[in-house]
Amino acid sequence: MEMSQPSLLPEVLDALSDPVILVDGRKVVTFGNRAALSTWPSLVKGAPLSFTLRAPDVIDAIERVLAGIAPVIRGTMTERLPVERLFDFQAVNLLSASAASPRTAPAIVLVFRDLTEARRLEAMRVDFVANASHELRTPLASLLGFIETLQGPARNDPQAQSRFLGIMREQGRRMARLIDDLLSLSRVEMSEHKRPVDAVDFGLVIRQVTDTFRPVAEERRVAINLDLPTESILVVGERDELLRVAENLIENAIKYGHAGQRIELALTRERASVGRCDEAHFTVRDFGPGIASEHLPRLTERFYRVDASASRETGGTGLGLAIVKHIVNRHRGRLTIESEVGAGSLFHIFLPLFSSES
Ligand code: ADP
Repeated sequence: MEMSQPSLLPEVLDALSDPVILVDGRKVVTFGNRAALSTWPSLVKGAPLSFTLRAPDVIDAIERVLAGIAPVIRGTMTERLPVERLFDFQAVNLLSASAASPRTAPAIVLVFRDLTEARRLEAMRVDFVANASHELRTPLASLLGFIETLQGPARNDPQAQSRFLGIMREQGRRMARLIDDLLSLSRVEMSEHKRPVDAVDFGLVIRQVTDTFRPVAEERRVAINLDLPTESILVVGERDELLRVAENLIENAIKYGHAGQRIELALTRERASVGRCDEAHFTVRDFGPGIASEHLPRLTERFYRVDASASRETGGTGLGLAIVKHIVNRHRGRLTIESEVGAGSLFHIFLPLFSSES
C-alpha cells in the first residue's frame, strides 16, 4: 500500500502502544516512538542502540537481518534491572520489505511486545494454587473436623457446640484473611513493573494508620511514639499501597514486639547519597524479642515465619512482609531490616520523593 501522507508516519508510530525503534546499518538509533522512549528513557537518537539495550539477542538479530540472512527475525529479550521484564521482538529489514522503492541506506525496524504481565500472571497462577491450597488446608481440615463433631458426639451438647462454633468462626476468618492477602500480593506483583505516578503525603498516611492502631496498641499495653516532621513529605506512590506498608509494619511491631511495651515510628527526609534522589525514610522500631540474623534474609518470602505457630495464633498469614517488599519494589524504594535478639527490631523504608522527580 502506498502511503499518501508519509509525513504522518512518526505520529502513527507514536500512537502505537508497542515500542518501535529504527536503527541504521551501524545499529545507531534513528527513531524511537513514544512507547519506546517511555519504556527506555535512556534511548537517544544518534547513539548506538547497545547503549540503551544490553540485549545480545536483539543486537544479534539486527546483525543477521543486516547480513541478509533473513528479512525478519523474531526473538525474546529479558531485562533484569530495575525489574525483570520480558519482551518478544522482531527485527525487520526495511530494505527488503519495500523492494519496490529501493533505499540506499540500510534500515532496520524493531518492534517489541511487553510479555511481562502475561508471564507474571501465568507464574502467579501456579504459585497461588500451590501456596494457597497448602495454607488453606489446615483451617479447612479443622473446620471439617468440628462439623463432624457437631453432627456426632457434640450433637446434644450446647456448651461444646458454642465453643466449637467460636473456633470455627476463627478458622473461617483466617481463611478469608489468607485469601485477601494472597489476592493483594498478586495484585502488587502484577503491577510491579509499572511505577506509581501520584504524589502522596507519606506522613499523613503514617498518621492515619497509627490512629487506627491506637486501640489495638492500648489493649496490648504498647505505647506508640510517633515522630513526624512538620513539613509534609511527598513521595511518588499509590496511597492504598503505602497504607498497607505502614499497616503491616506497625501491626507486626505491636503483635511481635508488644513485650517491649513501646514502639517508635519516625519519618524523615533523607539527603541524597551519590547517584540517588532525595528520599523519605520511615522507620518502625520495636523493643520486643527481635529476630535471629539467620532469618532476616528470608523474612520477606511468602509464608516465611520465624515461628509458624506464633504467627498463626496472632492471626498472621506469613504474607505481610512479602506484600510490603513488593509494594516498596514497585515504588522503586528499599526495605531493610535490622534486628537483635532480645533487643528488638528496626524496619526501614526508603521511598523516592515526589519533588526530586519533577
Ligand atoms: P505474619 O502474617 O506471620 O505476621 P509477616 O510477613 O508480616 O507475616 O512476617 C513474617 C514473620 O516475620 C513473622 O511470622 C514473624 O516471625 C517475623 N516478624 C515480623 N515482624 C517482626 C517483628 N517486629 N518482631 C519479630 N518478628 C517479626
